[in-house]
Amino acid sequence: MLSPSFHRWLRCALLGSLALLGGAALGAGDTLPPSVVVLQYHFVATDTPASTSVTPGQFAAHLEAIEASRATLLSLPEALDALRAGRTLPETALAITFDDAYESIAEAAHPLLHARGWPYTIFVNPEPIDGRHGGFLSWDQLRRLTAEGATIGNHGLRHDYMVRGESQGLPDPAAPAYETYLETQVLEAQRRIDGELGPQPKLFAYPYGEFAPPLQAWLKTQGYAAFGQHSGPLWAGSDPQALPRFPASGIYGDLTSLRPKLTMKALAATIESPTSMILPREVDRPTLRFTLRFPEAHRGPVQCYLSGQGAIPTTREGSRVDASAPAPLPLGRSRFNCTAQGPGGRWHWLSQPLLRLP
Ligand SMILES: [Zn+2]
Repeated sequence: MLSPSFHRWLRCALLGSLALLGGAALGAGDTLPPSVVVLQYHFVATDTPASTSVTPGQFAAHLEAIEASRATLLSLPEALDALRAGRTLPETALAITFDDAYESIAEAAHPLLHARGWPYTIFVNPEPIDGRHGGFLSWDQLRRLTAEGATIGNHGLRHDYMVRGESQGLPDPAAPAYETYLETQVLEAQRRIDGELGPQPKLFAYPYGEFAPPLQAWLKTQGYAAFGQHSGPLWAGSDPQALPRFPASGIYGDLTSLRPKLTMKALAATIESPTSMILPREVDRPTLRFTLRFPEAHRGPVQCYLSGQGAIPTTREGSRVDASAPAPLPLGRSRFNCTAQGPGGRWHWLSQPLLRLP
C-alpha cells in the first residue's frame, strides 16, 4: 500500500496541477463547453465472452444508431486537441475505441468503419502480438488498419492489473522499483508500437480500467492522455489521466442502453472526494463529493447511482453535490454515476470509478 506521506505528496501534486485539459472557464449565460462521447469495444464476434462482445450484427446496428444521432466522428487525437485548445466542436461529437487488439476488429468492425470513413483507435498490448498469440491482430494487420484510418494507442506491454501492487507480484507503487516497472510496461510498449507502425500519439488505456494516483502522476509526467472505462463524456475540464469512456459491449451493447449515451453531455464538475479510485481498506461506504462547474445550467435535481444499489441519496446545495453509499460495497470494481438535465432537456453524466481491494 501507499505510505501516508506519499499519499499526501501525491494529493498535493495532483491538486496543485489540477489536471485540466485546458478549456477556458465560461461565465453564466454562455454556451456550455463541448463534450465528446467515447465508446469502448473489445470483440465484435459471436463466439467470444459475452460481457466484452457485440455481435457483428449488433455492431452494424450501433453504427446505424450513431448515424441517426447525427454525431460527428472524431479520432481521439482530434477530439483531445480540440478540447485542449478550447475549439468549438459539433453538438454531438463521438469517438470509437477498441481495447486489446482482437482479430475480429479487422474482420468485422474495420470494413464497416472504413466504408463510412470513420476514424477509430485500438489500444494494444504488444506482448501477445509479438508472441503471435491466437486471436490477436498481427503487426501487419495493424499496419493496414492504420493506413486506413486507425490510430493505435498503448494498453501496456502486458495486460496487468497495474495498480494492485504486491497482490499481483508487482512492485509497491510507493517503491522506487514501480517506476522501472512503468517504464517497461508503458515506454517499452510504446517503443514496440512506434517501431512497428511509426510514431503514434501518446494515448494510454488502463488495463481493466483500473488506475491510481501514482500511475496517473507518472503518465502525466510522460505526456500521456489516459482512459479508464468508467462511463461519461469528456470535456475540457476532464482529468487527462482519468478520461471516461462508455462501455458498449455486453449488457451495454443493447440499443436501448446505448442510444441515450450517444448524445450525452459531460456533467462538468470538479470531484473533491474520493481522491483515488482505490478506496482505503476501512472505507466500504464511500461518499462522492463534487462541485458543479456550471450550476446554473442544471436547474433540476442531480441524481447519483451506485453499482448494485440503484439510485442513492443525493444532496445538492448550490454547486456542491454529495452522495453516499447507503450499503457496503463488495470487493472489486464499482462506480458512482450521476446525471442531471441541462439546457434543452439534454442529459449530462459524470462517473467516478471505485476499487475495493481485499
Ligand atoms: Zn484490455
